[in-house]
Amino acid sequence: MRTALITGISGQTGSYLAEQLLADGWAVHGLVRKADARRDALEGTAPEAVLHEGDLADAARLAELVDDVAPDAIFNLGGLTSVAASWGQPIETEAVTARPVAVLLDACRRLRDRTGHPVAFVQASSAEIFGHSDEVPQRESTPVRPVNPYGAAKAYGHHLVGAYRAVGLNASSCILFNHESPRRPETFVTRKITAGVARIHLGLETKLRLGNLDAVRDWGWAPDYARALALAAARPDDYVIATGVAHSVADFVAMSFAAVGITDWRSLVEQDPAFIRPTDAAIQLGDASRAHDALGWSPTIDLESVVGAMVAHDVERLGGEAHA
Ligand code: GDP
Repeated sequence: MRTALITGISGQTGSYLAEQLLADGWAVHGLVRKADARRDALEGTAPEAVLHEGDLADAARLAELVDDVAPDAIFNLGGLTSVAASWGQPIETEAVTARPVAVLLDACRRLRDRTGHPVAFVQASSAEIFGHSDEVPQRESTPVRPVNPYGAAKAYGHHLVGAYRAVGLNASSCILFNHESPRRPETFVTRKITAGVARIHLGLETKLRLGNLDAVRDWGWAPDYARALALAAARPDDYVIATGVAHSVADFVAMSFAAVGITDWRSLVEQDPAFIRPTDAAIQLGDASRAHDALGWSPTIDLESVVGAMVAHDVERLGGEAHA
């Protein structure tokens, strides 16, 4: 039986990855913080996962965990995930999104050198490493030029994976474009929109307040991105993971309202300067040809289906609350 260690196992993509690896017959271990609000949900969806308490910022604990679990693969999904919040917490962003990559890669190398046990390392990197790219779509060769603390922390991790791969470690960096699901927190625009639309549909709210409606993203389905990470463990390389289809925030809003039968949505949405960012990567669009050719990976559903699943989930959840 193969053993995986997942950081960020209680997060959106980590929880899907845990479920998929368990279904494929892996033993799954994960790192969770002591006061992790999403731990209960994880115990419901992946009850066989072995959870270890600890903090990503605690380097000694992290290295010890790698030695104790002696995994066949480490999937590093932990860290602060919000671009907007990284401006308020740049130092914590470095401590939990950048530095643990060094701790984990070093622990993999030491474990391999000491025991001969090969360890695959898969980094959940981000399209934010490309910043305001002139290249559209972005691919593995696109220059890494982040424009916010989150992107800079992910860029460090991405480069370090390349450095360890060059000295023989089985290390992959998956450059994940935005990926969404009903498990996405409302700090992300997609879930904020689907929950807001559900509240308007149910008569709980009258307006949706958003920032930049013109921002363009390549949004995929989070379980597909979890699958890409699992596939990358077997073939070390850098991989862009994206759908190759771009939509604006306004498109996402229109699709969400359409899912509850509202076509005339403009008067229901207000622009609020509080949600406009100091810098915003303008067009994110990824070319996942390498992942398709080398890993056989491709997205299973389109954005309309992603939106449909998220809106249906929120209408059901908030409808229950509205009638309680
Ligand atoms: P990110 O791409 O990882 O930062 O994911 P987000 O879902 O937080 O943001 C996606 C895009 O939506 C960014 O370009 C934001 O500027 C834009 N956006 C527009 N309105 C909002 C809002 O109200 N909240 C958030 N989080 N993003 C917004």
